[in-house]
Amino acid sequence: MRQGPDMPWDSIHKQEAHTGTAPNLRDYATVCAGFSWEAARRALDGLPDGGLNIAHEAIDRHVAHGRGAHPALRWLGKAGARHDFTYADLKRLTDRFANALRTLGVAKGDRVFGLMGRLPELYIAALGTLKNGSVFSPLFSAFGPEPIRSRMELGDAKALVTTEALYRKKVMAWRHELPKLTHVLLVECNEAALPEGTLSLAQAMAAASETFAIEPTRPDDMALLHFTSGTTGRPKGAVHVHEAVVGHAVTGRLALDIHPEDRVWCTADPGWVTGMSYGIIAPLTNGATLIVDEAEFDAERWYGTLQNELVTVWYTAPTAIRMMMKIGTEIIRKYDLSRLRFLASVGEPLNPEAVVWSQQAFGRPFHDNWWQTETGGIMIANFASMDIKPGSMGRPIPGIEAAIVERKPEGVAVVEKPMAMGELALKPGWPSMFRGYLHEDERYKKCFVGGWYLTGDLAMRDADGYFWFVGRADDVIKSSGHLIGPFEVESALMEHPAVAEAGVIGKPDPMAGEIVKAFVALKGGYAPSEDLRKELLGHARKRLGPAVAPKEIDFRANLPKTRSGKIMRRLLKARELGLPEGDLSTLESDER
Ligand code: ATP
Ligand code: MG
Repeated sequence: MRQGPDMPWDSIHKQEAHTGTAPNLRDYATVCAGFSWEAARRALDGLPDGGLNIAHEAIDRHVAHGRGAHPALRWLGKAGARHDFTYADLKRLTDRFANALRTLGVAKGDRVFGLMGRLPELYIAALGTLKNGSVFSPLFSAFGPEPIRSRMELGDAKALVTTEALYRKKVMAWRHELPKLTHVLLVECNEAALPEGTLSLAQAMAAASETFAIEPTRPDDMALLHFTSGTTGRPKGAVHVHEAVVGHAVTGRLALDIHPEDRVWCTADPGWVTGMSYGIIAPLTNGATLIVDEAEFDAERWYGTLQNELVTVWYTAPTAIRMMMKIGTEIIRKYDLSRLRFLASVGEPLNPEAVVWSQQAFGRPFHDNWWQTETGGIMIANFASMDIKPGSMGRPIPGIEAAIVERKPEGVAVVEKPMAMGELALKPGWPSMFRGYLHEDERYKKCFVGGWYLTGDLAMRDADGYFWFVGRADDVIKSSGHLIGPFEVESALMEHPAVAEAGVIGKPDPMAGEIVKAFVALKGGYAPSEDLRKELLGHARKRLGPAVAPKEIDFRANLPKTRSGKIMRRLLKARELGLPEGDLSTLESDER
């Protein structure tokens, strides 16, 4: 019985099992040797005639290979409910969903939006939409009415799957403004009194057939529309295609160490690309079991979930890790987390302090990895199979060419010198690469210069080929001739026991050009005071030197963050300077 896809490096495992030698995957060169995206793609089934469909690889393939009874998804409701779905269950339900769409006349290429919390229907709708060849666009359920409307308008929404409550609260008032939106399917609804122009999803699915022939999608057919986090400005709609599944399969295995017997918990909401790529597609394509918790962050609940659900692979974000650090390790001792094997983090730079902390708290380090909505999947990672350097994002995935470049009037120049700061660039051509910003061609074209995709992030590469994040190009501070990355300053502040979170900006200054200003949220048990401010300034000076250390520190109860958990430095800066606050559609409510 074939379990997960046979990946190019599986032969190494097999050879080692045979010869009894220790796994050699710690050797980065071995992992990369002989890797090709083409070989990785051949490891998947594909559809007849060279077709490829994400949902087929994620679900149907496992059923076809005799693993229909394997658990695919365990769902944990807010109030304690639990539901299990096998791969065969998911196949049946997504087939029904796809049939329901087809019956309604929602066709290949049509956009289907999902707006709900982490309910089982969200997972069924996403994968069922892909089976139908339609394009799925997930929206975070906590968005307000306007961010929902504008994204659905930009995305030419034809259908929406949502709950009755969200529909009434956030959609009903403006629905008539989107004439292309012809179908609204409701979950958790009162079927006896549905709002006008809506259908019950349960009824539509009950009426639909349970067998479905997957639409013959091509690798290049549009599959997903993901909006970026809006950290630096107005969010962009990144277009992704079915071929992305090849990248998800590979990176799920290599960067997150997902194997068929794993129980994988990705804490990101599928409203963001992480929750879709690694909260759904990658674990399923690798034949593992998804753990889905409907509830929001709560340390006790999280540790309980890790323990009770026997989570083996855990993918989360620095914001959550910092919240756990704030609470401390004492509480962790109450739980048996011995099943946890692989911990990974994404979304923001992971402070070295957090890696050290997790080693103490969990006996295992967090593996940082870097990618963007645009890249569709992990690009640079501290692999399971290599030594971690705390504070580094790791090394490129096989098949990914990454470089530090400098923009020049005539194009870009690759910076070869180790630890020289420049823009992180990637050679286009990997399968999960975005294929456009929907309806924004100019914005898309601007990302490519001299044959490179420019990420907008500044980084450095060390002599061993590890990449180190410096900051977003927009956030870098120019002070008295120095270029200062906010991450370095924030990480130094985080080392102080009083600091829970730090956000650093450049504040205009007549002498220096800009000075470094830090905003700091304190851990429980610490209160803002002049003495503490001085102590933190002194600590930073000692750690960073006077040129890089902040000159000013302000205390905040919380730092403003996007709903995907990223510190919005541009907003700290706009407020500091009294400038317009810009697009705040993704801002999570913050206390000033
Ligand atoms: P927008 O593009 O709308 O401003 P965004 O860039 O925050 O928003 P995402 O695509 O969700 O939207 O986030 C990708 C960005 O997150 C990266 O470009 C990088 O700045 C940051 N990031 C992600 N992972 C890491 C990491 N491991 N270390 C440092 N930064 C990271
Ligand atoms: Mg971005």
